[in-house]
Amino acid sequence: MDAILENYLQYICGQENVKRNEPLARWTTFRVGGPARFFVLVESKEKLQKLISALEYLERPYFVLGLGANVLASDKGYDGVVIKINFQTIQHNDVFMYADAGAKLSAVVNYAREHGLSGLEWATGIPATIGGGVYMNCGAFEHSMSDVVVLVDVLQNGKIKTLTNHQINFGYRHSCFMEEPAVIIGAYLRLKHDKSAKIATRMREIVAKRNRHPHEPSAGSVFKRPYDNFFVGREIEKLGLAGYTVGGAQVSPRHCNFIVNTGGATCRDVWQVLNHVKQQVEAATGVKLESEIVILGEME
Ligand SMILES: Cc1cc2nc3c(=O)[nH]c(=O)nc-3n(C[C@H](O)[C@H](O)[C@H](O)COP(=O)(O)OP(=O)(O)OC[C@H]3O[C@@H](n4cnc5c(N)ncnc54)[C@H](O)[C@@H]3O)c2cc1C
Repeated sequence: MDAILENYLQYICGQENVKRNEPLARWTTFRVGGPARFFVLVESKEKLQKLISALEYLERPYFVLGLGANVLASDKGYDGVVIKINFQTIQHNDVFMYADAGAKLSAVVNYAREHGLSGLEWATGIPATIGGGVYMNCGAFEHSMSDVVVLVDVLQNGKIKTLTNHQINFGYRHSCFMEEPAVIIGAYLRLKHDKSAKIATRMREIVAKRNRHPHEPSAGSVFKRPYDNFFVGREIEKLGLAGYTVGGAQVSPRHCNFIVNTGGATCRDVWQVLNHVKQQVEAATGVKLESEIVILGEME
């Protein structure tokens, strides 16, 4: 069965773009994760559509990976096909921008600045692709993708559809794709004209704020804010958990809502730290924290 699948994948995506047993640690910002049975780079929308049709026909599980900046991949890896979208066109017309799902958010933010388009400064420094950014509705400093997304092209149930911002049902780190899976192909954003120099100044301010965050490999903030005025990092710190360590995974003393890989962490280490923090916070405050990290593969 694997040989047939491999043939399909190579036929659609090109032999050089299909890897077997590719370590996911190479493709996630946590730098943890075992092998993906297949790992495929997809170079065009047409190939993506064919690939998804083939996988659905063969009833094989797949997972679309962006920059892997919000993913915790199992030490056992993933027994399916990990798809990495590798098309990344960015265009604009007046205040409207289009970016392919594989475009890096940093490239989109810089493109906007160069063309005098404001509205994405808050996203400076967030590691993401457009696909992952829309899926997660990533955000910072009281802004998020939902503020600028107008339309999103997706592949859902074998068809290409265009969804409006409203239909995506965006919420805090939420989009409809979490309940109704779809492959995001690209997004149309609406920005505002402004001077590039002013945009650049605002971006520098954001960089300065973000520089206080931990620099070791991580997936950013682990837990969602349960409600306004509940500052997860501070609550974790109050419980004396700064620096709490299992193996190579640690509650960052710099920002306690980050779990960092201090070197050689396994998924199991990260998972144990995450669950310990969750239990301690619930025991002390009664608040059940929800993780925003996406799990890939089976957790032990
Ligand atoms: C140092 C650091 C700082 C961070 N700071 C922030 C922050 O300030 N704000 C914030 O919100 N997040 C932050 N994050 C988390 C992360 O950057 C965001 O969640 C981001 O949106 C993840 O994008 P990605 O492309 O890496 O997606 P991935 O992590 O690869 O994937 C996340 C989810 O999106 C899905 N997905 C990806 N692409 C597609 C697609 N084309 N179609 C369908 N589904 C898709 C995946 O299947 C997965 O379920 C940070 C992470 C790190 C490491």
